[in-house]
Amino acid sequence: MADSQNFDLVVIGAGPGGYVAAIRAAQLGMNVACVEKESTLGGTCLNVGCIPSKALLESSELYAQAKEKFQDHGIGLKDLSIDMKKFIDRKDKVVKQLTGGIAGLFKKNKITSIFGTAQVGRDRSVSVTTKDGVVQLLAKHVIIATGSQPIAIPGVEMDGKTIIDSTGALNLSEVPGTMVVIGGGVIGLELGSVYARLGSKIIVLEALDRIAPSLDVEVGKTFQRILSKQGMEFHLSTKVKKAVSKGNQVEVTVEAEGKESVIVCDKVLVAVGRKPYVTGLGLAEAGIKLDERGRIDVNDHFETSLKGVYAIGDVIKGAMLAHKASEEGVALVEQLAGQAGHVNYHTIPSVVYTWPEVASVGFTEEEAKAKGVDYKVSKFPFLASGRAIAMNEKDGFVKLIADKKTDRLLGAHILGPRASDMIAELVIAMEFGSSAEDIARTCHAHPTLAESVKEAALALGTGAIHI
Ligand code: NAD
Repeated sequence: MADSQNFDLVVIGAGPGGYVAAIRAAQLGMNVACVEKESTLGGTCLNVGCIPSKALLESSELYAQAKEKFQDHGIGLKDLSIDMKKFIDRKDKVVKQLTGGIAGLFKKNKITSIFGTAQVGRDRSVSVTTKDGVVQLLAKHVIIATGSQPIAIPGVEMDGKTIIDSTGALNLSEVPGTMVVIGGGVIGLELGSVYARLGSKIIVLEALDRIAPSLDVEVGKTFQRILSKQGMEFHLSTKVKKAVSKGNQVEVTVEAEGKESVIVCDKVLVAVGRKPYVTGLGLAEAGIKLDERGRIDVNDHFETSLKGVYAIGDVIKGAMLAHKASEEGVALVEQLAGQAGHVNYHTIPSVVYTWPEVASVGFTEEEAKAKGVDYKVSKFPFLASGRAIAMNEKDGFVKLIADKKTDRLLGAHILGPRASDMIAELVIAMEFGSSAEDIARTCHAHPTLAESVKEAALALGTGAIHI
């Protein structure tokens, strides 16, 4: 093969799995190339996922506060309006800043970026089709970090105008009157929240009998009640038969309890999950095996069935979360450098960035039960938190699950304001194998929302003070 460029490591995909692995590998002294098929770095998370959705969630939450909450604080506002162009432009600026930031980090770490589509060869070569032709790369190690893509459902063809996926929902030019969201998972609830706050009627169609099925059941039920109070409508145990665009509207045929009905709306957002993105990688030809669910099969060291080729993130088993992918990327390259990289899957937090937020780590109560663990459980409501009352954010609670005999913390669930920030304390506690008493005896600043974590921990032992 003429003119191959040689690297210690070629990473395919510049999302939070790939770009973080590339940077850590460069820090460890490797000569690294990162191949990306899109024109910017950052993958789904930075370009069309976590970051832009958080930008829109932030803006829409401010709007909702001004509309519904300011008056409780004695703040009057006249003529409140939303400028959709600015709303979307600000999100684009945030994305641009952050994707540009990764380009800067690549430069600083002397990582070679190659924009094109990569195909893996049996000899661990990577051929990249760029706009200027094919580039051949050879590497000691190859990491596939190509992420995932939205799943489509039969009978619901996404046209990008009236029937859209999450990427489409990040770029609407006007607020839809009625939006049907198919799938009551994380994406449906977050993006549904954005438009509910801006005034859309949101109707969530969920196939299962509850929303956000990975949540602790008690947390999920309370969460649904809070979102319903905010005006979101939930149709559970509902099957979508088809969705047909008629001009500017869509007719969605659904089946629930054996009866069919039609919902007419302005937009349909399809958010029924994501699947590994393996298109065009040439996996079968290279002898890289997939598992029964179409994910790249890897061993405990992230190695695929082709020696020296590894895979991390959404394209392999496990939760499809940006931070899980990053942790795997770091652990893997540290292992390749002879270090002891490791991922503790029991302490990977997950967050739904609605308002209130939901954040959890470790076992749900149902998981603890199913595993036959002798556990104890406590709950402390934000209604009893001085800071939450001062903020006028009294919905939700902290729920802790600990081993009954050893007091070791097994799971933590926060439904409430800024839960995403508060969960970090509990992740660290679990990472350190802490007991509930360790948290209960730790001084928490007053008045903070985090005192509710301490109170929930106290409730597992000597008793909470403020309830
Ligand atoms: P999801 O798996 O979270 O939820 C999909 C939901 O759709 C489920 O509740 C499922 O029961 C339902 N569903 C499936 N088929 C259906 C059908 N035909 N009709 C009605 N309902 C149906 O998937 P998602 O919300 O699309 O998110 C995709 C992935 O991205 C997830 O793994 C998620 O964790 C990840 N993600 C995470 C975050 C975050 O961490 N905040 C944000 C966005 C996405």
